[in-house]
Amino acid sequence: MSRSGIGYDSHRLEQGRRFVLAGVEIEHESGPAAHSDGDVLTHALIDALLGAAALGDIGQHYPDTDERYAGAASLDLLRDAVAKAAAAGVTPEFADTTVVCERPKLDPHRDAIATALTEALGVPVNVKFTTGEGIGFVGRGEGIAALAVVTVS
Ligand code: MG
Repeated sequence: MSRSGIGYDSHRLEQGRRFVLAGVEIEHESGPAAHSDGDVLTHALIDALLGAAALGDIGQHYPDTDERYAGAASLDLLRDAVAKAAAAGVTPEFADTTVVCERPKLDPHRDAIATALTEALGVPVNVKFTTGEGIGFVGRGEGIAALAVVTVS
């Protein structure tokens, strides 16, 4: 049987924070404010995988009140979520993702991001980018968001 899970995450952008997507550090004047590394794309993917495995959500497994996850590398959490899914008999088959971000330009980093996620999930991850067209919290540069769908068997 094949199942799918969805994931969504967003973070506020703050001056002077590291800008990290799928573990790839990107040069920018601001970055996601978060207890962890603020990697919205990886967080959305983790939630989609946990959803497909019917294992709840990222906040249940990696609570941001837990000091163990302060500054956590989100790719490590994704690898851990893959192991948790495997223990539940769930194997990822494919993932599709979208990052909603006004700036910086992400296209030059697409291959590095897709490769990092594909290695961590163990199956192909498609990566798409879109902007907020100048409106809403993304369009005003106040934040970044990401969506993901993971299909498993
Ligand atoms: Mg998050």
